[in-house]
Amino acid sequence: MKLFDLGGRVAAVTGGNSGIGLAMAQGLASAGASIVIAGRRADRNADAVKSLAALGARAAAIEIDVEDEAACHALGDQVVERFGRLDILINNAGINIRKQPQDYAASEWHKVLNVNLTAAFLCSQGAYPHMVRAGGGKIINTGSMMSIFGTSFAVAYASSKGGIVQMTKSLACSWARDNIQVNAILPGWIDTELTQSARQQVSGLHERVLARTPAGRWGVPQDLAGIAVFLASGASDFVTGTAIPVDGGYSSQG
Ligand code: NDP
Repeated sequence: MKLFDLGGRVAAVTGGNSGIGLAMAQGLASAGASIVIAGRRADRNADAVKSLAALGARAAAIEIDVEDEAACHALGDQVVERFGRLDILINNAGINIRKQPQDYAASEWHKVLNVNLTAAFLCSQGAYPHMVRAGGGKIINTGSMMSIFGTSFAVAYASSKGGIVQMTKSLACSWARDNIQVNAILPGWIDTELTQSARQQVSGLHERVLARTPAGRWGVPQDLAGIAVFLASGASDFVTGTAIPVDGGYSSQG
């Protein structure tokens, strides 16, 4: 459908070599976009590129640690060097360090905030001039249920994901006149490497999520592909500053 067509568009996806990021990248690729995967692990990047090429997409990878400020700023330039333009940025790289707040080292706090929040800001800054030059763009930030709720075992993660929503709103206000739409996706509990470790570390989590999710199941990464295509396409040109839960009803359940 033309409304959702991404033919000729170029997208960069941080944390695109795994889980939710890879599924969103595959969604965009299926809609016609060229994709640049940005992550640290070269082998995972290469596998992701292969899976995107199998969908018929032009794809490449950039090895990047988003804790590196200069690398985040340069990401947009690198994408444009490879594929000539940058239309869509998905800020999705994310980590968690699960412990009680009193046990957190300052370095651990900074690490989670740097990867989950600061990097999204810096990559957006780096993308901005290219999107302005292209006449517009789409920025999609990955929040979380922890953008809405707090939790005892992830104070830095929840702080970073709350920050993602406020950053999204602020960038949306700043850049709307540049025809750049900025939105956040708030995934519910999705079965990925990140949450496999959570299930090991937090006793009873698996059952609690199942009990609270009206859809009666954990999400799978592919559940995020459709919303990514919507927010990356012309179908969402008047949608900006939002934070959309994709959670099987988890955040609607009292
Ligand atoms: P994964 O662990 O599968 O993916 C995390 C991705 O982030 C990987 O591609 C990883 O690549 C990348 N990454 C981590 N640290 C860095 C870094 N320093 N520099 C560059 N890339 C980095 O987890 P998910 O797919 O579950 O998570 C993706 C996003 O979704 C995260 O922001 C997470 O917070 C969010 N989310 C996940 C939920 C879930 O239930 N799974 C729920 C709500 C939000 P590499 O290691 O190669 O660098």
